[in-house]
Amino acid sequence: MFNLALEDVRAWIKSHGWSKIALQMPEGMKSKAIQIVQKLADGLDCQFIIIGDPCYGACDVYRGFEDFADALVHFGHARIPSINVSDNVLFVEMRVDPDMSDLVSEALPLLGGRVGLLATIQYIESIPIVRSLLEKAGKEVYIGNGDSRIAYPGQVLGCNCSSAEDVNEKVDSFIQIGEGDFHALAIALDTGKDVIVLDPVKREIREMSEKRDRILRQRFALINTAAEARRFLVIVSAKTGQRRLKTAEDAVRLLNSKGRYGAIVVLEEINPIALMPYDVDAYVNTACPRVAIDDAVMYKRPMLTYAELEIVLGLRDWGDYVFDKIKE
Ligand code: SF4
Repeated sequence: MFNLALEDVRAWIKSHGWSKIALQMPEGMKSKAIQIVQKLADGLDCQFIIIGDPCYGACDVYRGFEDFADALVHFGHARIPSINVSDNVLFVEMRVDPDMSDLVSEALPLLGGRVGLLATIQYIESIPIVRSLLEKAGKEVYIGNGDSRIAYPGQVLGCNCSSAEDVNEKVDSFIQIGEGDFHALAIALDTGKDVIVLDPVKREIREMSEKRDRILRQRFALINTAAEARRFLVIVSAKTGQRRLKTAEDAVRLLNSKGRYGAIVVLEEINPIALMPYDVDAYVNTACPRVAIDDAVMYKRPMLTYAELEIVLGLRDWGDYVFDKIKE
């Protein structure tokens, strides 16, 4: 069961005397939204307004909340330290503390002697526990410090594995504690090392190399398809924490210098319907890197990252392929 520390949220609201609070939460939490509102509202003279739009991460703090509320509570993600937010925004991290011992035992035969340890924010408190289990089994354990986008040692985002990069040279493989393959795939693509997922919900371990290789084959096929493209739509996110306008402008300059055409479009939500009207041959995505990597099959035209555009334009070798990251 997730711990949301709702009493702390209530104390924060009371101490400021606010009367209208906007609540933002990831899709997976929205089924609990009504219960959360009921618990928060109990005994408080305060109105709560749920923001219904999708929320993908701490990069995606709802910008217009002050039009209808005094403050915003953003659930489920750790604050991204490099993104400025005002004092009337509170981040409430989800925390869960599962038993990890059987998963660690199962993973041991797949690991080398030196292991990098990573987790999503929900499982960040499992890092010292898993570390101790691994060390008792004779492993050397490394926990890296991330850059200014990362709030905790060992924490990983789908667009930023700087905690893994910090120790990549020292380790044989990585353990990622978390659900799903989203973050583990980022680590595998970014570091090139074996990544073992310890999934506390499915109670299973998974190795990521097959999935990484499949994604890389897909990327190389898309790069080939885009080789003859002349007109590109360069996508910029309106969301504060995914906005890379300079990268988009650099992409347009590169395209122009190679006799191709690039136009910039700013979007709040990137999806096939939003891109359908534009008469172009390919897209360059500078928003959340995972839109290009994970959703590629949804788009009729190739969607490239900036580094992939460099390959298309002959400015980067295939052997220098890099995972697209947001660094700050
Ligand atoms: S940019 Fe994408 S991967 Fe990074 S935090 Fe936002 S939603 Fe997650």
